[in-house]
Amino acid sequence: MNAVKAAPFVPEELVERFAVAGRRQGFRVEPLREIDGCPLIALTKRTPGPRPKIYLSSGLHGDEPAAPLGLLQMLEEGLFDHRAVWFIVPMLNPTGYRRGTRENLAGVDLNRDYRHRQSAEVRAHIEWLQRQPLFDAAFCLHEDWESVGFYLYELNPSRRSSLAEPMIEAVRGHHPIDLSELIDGRPAAGGILRPDADPVTRELWPEAIYLRSHHTTLSYTLETPSAFPIEQRIAIQRIAIGTALEKLTGKPNGSPLDSANQTASTPTNVSI
Ligand SMILES: [Zn+2]
Repeated sequence: MNAVKAAPFVPEELVERFAVAGRRQGFRVEPLREIDGCPLIALTKRTPGPRPKIYLSSGLHGDEPAAPLGLLQMLEEGLFDHRAVWFIVPMLNPTGYRRGTRENLAGVDLNRDYRHRQSAEVRAHIEWLQRQPLFDAAFCLHEDWESVGFYLYELNPSRRSSLAEPMIEAVRGHHPIDLSELIDGRPAAGGILRPDADPVTRELWPEAIYLRSHHTTLSYTLETPSAFPIEQRIAIQRIAIGTALEKLTGKPNGSPLDSANQTASTPTNVSI
């Protein structure tokens, strides 16, 4: 075990906290399969009426603890309310989190496995995804051990209204942004990477490429800097996601349900 990278939680206990908080917030909790004694789960919640379908995931890399912890905090505080239909997969790599490694116990980087699907974790995830509808937007929460601030990837092949700048701007007011011109070997500008993500050109698929290929025309991978205190990384995730959800739904968290029901149609910037 890497003492520095070990997660400050036991994966199955974190999953149980997601299940408890999810049920309390009106989510359906669905077991996907069990990996080495830890259930993989998906949480879904549908509120009747026209609403954007929003997908969020975390927990693919076992050395990135602020991602699932941030998502859990958002769930517990009620951020995922009646404004949208929610699809959440919070923890896909329990054996990685137990050992504090990016890869799972078998040494597979799950976030490169969405094309060849060697791992049981990714196969279970994809089986579940195939039963879900198209998403209006998807958010994959990650961390980066080398970054000097927050940054994000955007995949927006249909050139829909971007959430990248609003998320960066909202975080910039409180926390550093990684302004490097090259991040992870790719060109970046102002903390935003817009890689050529044509699935045909990629041999190894991250989750975001699979989602772009099959489930959504707008996805974001959020990266918080692992060198920062964990509370700060969680706060950054919360600001970015909260801002994006407000843009997507046209409503702040905590809007009364009645006003949501009066919405005649889905906001124009969330059409697929
Ligand atoms: Zn990651």
